[in-house]
Amino acid sequence: MTDKSGCDEKKVEDDATCARNAEKMSGGPTVTVYPSLWCPEGKAAHRFRVRDDVSAGAKHAETENSTDGIARQSVQCRCSSHNQVPRYYRKVSAAQTSGLILGIESSCDETAAAVVRAGQQVYSNVLASQIALHANYGGVVPELASREHLRNIVPVVRQAIEQSGFTLRDLQAIAVTEGPGLAGALLVGITYAKALAFGLNIPLIGVNHLEGHIHAVLMEARQRADAPMELPLLALVVSGGHTHLYLAKQSRQGAWSYQNVGRTVDDAAGEAYDKVAKLLGLGYPGGPWIDALASRGNPRAVPFQFNPIKPRAHRPGISLPNKKASYPEHSGPSFDFSFSGIKTAVLRYIETHAMKPAIDRRRAALAELSDPKPADAAALCDAETLDLLASFQYAVVGNLERQAFAASEAFGARGIVVSGGVAANRELRQRLQAEADRRGLPIAFPSLALSTDNAAMIAAAAWPKLLACQFADDSLVATPQLRLG
Ligand code: ADP
Ligand code: MG
Repeated sequence: MTDKSGCDEKKVEDDATCARNAEKMSGGPTVTVYPSLWCPEGKAAHRFRVRDDVSAGAKHAETENSTDGIARQSVQCRCSSHNQVPRYYRKVSAAQTSGLILGIESSCDETAAAVVRAGQQVYSNVLASQIALHANYGGVVPELASREHLRNIVPVVRQAIEQSGFTLRDLQAIAVTEGPGLAGALLVGITYAKALAFGLNIPLIGVNHLEGHIHAVLMEARQRADAPMELPLLALVVSGGHTHLYLAKQSRQGAWSYQNVGRTVDDAAGEAYDKVAKLLGLGYPGGPWIDALASRGNPRAVPFQFNPIKPRAHRPGISLPNKKASYPEHSGPSFDFSFSGIKTAVLRYIETHAMKPAIDRRRAALAELSDPKPADAAALCDAETLDLLASFQYAVVGNLERQAFAASEAFGARGIVVSGGVAANRELRQRLQAEADRRGLPIAFPSLALSTDNAAMIAAAAWPKLLACQFADDSLVATPQLRLG
């Protein structure tokens, strides 16, 4: 009686509208609204009232076990437009499903696949990095990245399945990054995921890459059995392509929603790291190199300044609940970032201090090595270079810290999660942790392995979507500029 998703086979053409408009109605008995319920009668928007709380085992619910082994409950509901009691189907609790999701990530320069159960238990997490390939060019070359994904996607997924100890038949859903990212790179993962989901007759789930980064932290907190952080959370997602602040909330049904309350107006923080490392003749990607070298210099040697960013109108629906909060004094309530200025300031410093010949010598010396590492560069950097690196990092981390805490105060966040490649930075972790402790605010970071791109985070972010039956269909396309919130 149900389709492959297990949510509904009585779908009508307007089911999406129906589901979107399903909302809690006032009065009556216990009301639980499931976004995965659709009215079989309607063409217009409908509201649903579940007559009893089915999860509490009330009399209007019953459990069926269908042939595919996925338990479902049929639920008696009343559609407000038709005032009748048809049967709707919804997937029952997480415990009654396999919960195994294959995550696929190919948004930039890493082909990754992972098998994760119920957004928590990671059975495999395989990654084919293209860093060595792109290092020759000092940045990701999109066309090369797409071709490399094509080469890697089949063996990476195969390895992830093998390492997990399960077979493809055990999977309950396939999750794939739909954006943001490089169009050609995303396309490889999406096309493969679609074909796999179709072949296995299981649901496909599209995941926003940035949401994945946030869920890397939440997944690891569950693994540690940490007490759940209170909501809303302020999420700082800071990587090579992104610098965003999100206010993250979860509905009673478990679905996550995000408000983008701050973002970079030009370069991302990781991009600034990469560009400054390149200017100074260091390796790619620049973050780990600067991280390793900055601690050897004087962070106050060069006083970098961040210019005020013009406050932008907040998006509709975003209000500042905490009106008495103090905002960065120069910019009013703007939680945006700008990192292109500091990159130019470093370039000017290099020019005015005649550092070019030393940089060329360092670049040439590192090029002689087969696999140069940050430790190799330490001996090739004079005190002036180390001071410049330390000052750059001190300023960037300070800016991230100020904006993140100002936003968390302004929006009344109850905790902070930091994620993305730059979250691996030691100084960032230390300073944000110290400030959070000072304010008595919980803060969480991903492990180093899950800071940068990976597929476990995609499978983890897909879990609440699976429970809410938020599935993609054949129309899923790569969306390079996909926004979150
Ligand atoms: P994206 O998804 O945007 O490509 P990732 O999440 O993979 O980015 O992160 C890569 C970025 O993180 C690069 O810009 C890299 O320089 C930066 N990065 C990695 N490790 C560190 C570190 N220890 N300190 C600062 N930046 C880092
Ligand atoms: Mg990333």
